[in-house]
Amino acid sequence: MENASPAHAKRIVVLGSTGSIGTNTLDVARHLPGEVQVVGLSAHSSLQLLLQQAQEFRPRFVCITGEGAIPPAQDWPPGTILLRGSDGLAQMVQDSQVDLVVTAIVGAAGLRGTWAALEAGKTVAVANKETLVMAGPLVMGLAARSGARVLPVDSEHSAIFQCLQGSQPSEIERLVLTGSGGPFRGRTKTQLQQVTVEEALQHPTWQMGRKITIDSATLMNKALELIEARWLFGLQAEQLSLVIHPESVVHSFVEFRDGAVLAQASPPDMRLPIQYALTYPRRLAGPARKLDWQRLRAWHFEMPDPDTFASLQLGYEVARRGGTCGAVLNAANEVAVQRFLNGELPFLDIARICREVLDHHEYESSPTLEKLLAVDRWARQEASRWTNRLPPRID
Ligand code: NAD
Ligand code: MG
Repeated sequence: MENASPAHAKRIVVLGSTGSIGTNTLDVARHLPGEVQVVGLSAHSSLQLLLQQAQEFRPRFVCITGEGAIPPAQDWPPGTILLRGSDGLAQMVQDSQVDLVVTAIVGAAGLRGTWAALEAGKTVAVANKETLVMAGPLVMGLAARSGARVLPVDSEHSAIFQCLQGSQPSEIERLVLTGSGGPFRGRTKTQLQQVTVEEALQHPTWQMGRKITIDSATLMNKALELIEARWLFGLQAEQLSLVIHPESVVHSFVEFRDGAVLAQASPPDMRLPIQYALTYPRRLAGPARKLDWQRLRAWHFEMPDPDTFASLQLGYEVARRGGTCGAVLNAANEVAVQRFLNGELPFLDIARICREVLDHHEYESSPTLEKLLAVDRWARQEASRWTNRLPPRID
């Protein structure tokens, strides 16, 4: 039997439900049972957690994308349909009973489910920024054609979206995305040469999956977010900038043509931007932490250091050039991050690999989806076989 929810509850699918965004999404759903009904879940691994989630939320569909051993059929709630692979994802998100799809899969693997949901005209709450980095213009073009709405989940983009309510995109002068600066804020390049995987995984303000945590240490996450913002809000690269804000309370700024600057502030807790996407345009009491006004301290802002954090240069460049650059940068970064996590590469090589692969690719300004998938494969191969035969460089 499925969850009995009021008729007006939004019926959601959570792609990547066992991850950091996925579990936060389910926590929001748990707190808003009359507003949100979970009708589909997917996971790649962590199948015991997926099983627990299925037992709690009793979704209509569960989809397993990885190869691991699946818990036996009798363990799943009666009535839940078990699907497999990316075809299963597509079937689940396109079901007529689905209103909204949260894309919380990590990496370019999130593209298929996002694409299928948009094709079917579903509202998509995008956490999976890699999809927009890789194929932003095509994804937004598809949404425009099918009439699907794309809502941001990334905290910076949600903040911007919240600040934009009641305004026209043409009234935006610039967006200023904030970032904590990660665990290595203020370090020099020489100091970054020897950092370990464990140090890079210690994020000062956010609890997240491993890939985005490394992206936050290299500041590639900010680079990806600049590119994400460019396509999501339809702006020019020159209208985008970054500021470091170590407290992670102000989640971004919008400067309007008349000089007014709006910001959205709240403690670092992804449940707020997730909830805003699920209940948009309404604001409801939910589980996200609130600012403690009694214990308020100063909020600091400083300029980022693109010489030390070379990923930032890549972000601005790729946001400006578009075309195949996003797919190449994203794929090279995914491989380089995995190789760093495997202990195969030093930290600084992540940005170095991305630079090399980006510089050696055959640029195309208006690629098709097939072309983007091909350059994604090519960039992965290049990044996989990259070895730094030279002595460590400080450049
Ligand atoms: P995570 O690693 O915690 O979870 C990833 C989820 O995707 C898991 O459910 C996993 O089973 C699934 N998955 C992994 N590989 C897959 C594959 N090949 N095919 C299908 N499913 C797969 O990651 P996360 O931190 O929750 O991040 C998810 C996405 O949200 C990323 O794109 C990230 O950049 C973005 N995001 C995360 C945060 C955050 O606070 N964690 C904030 C903003 C944006
Ligand atoms: Mg973010």
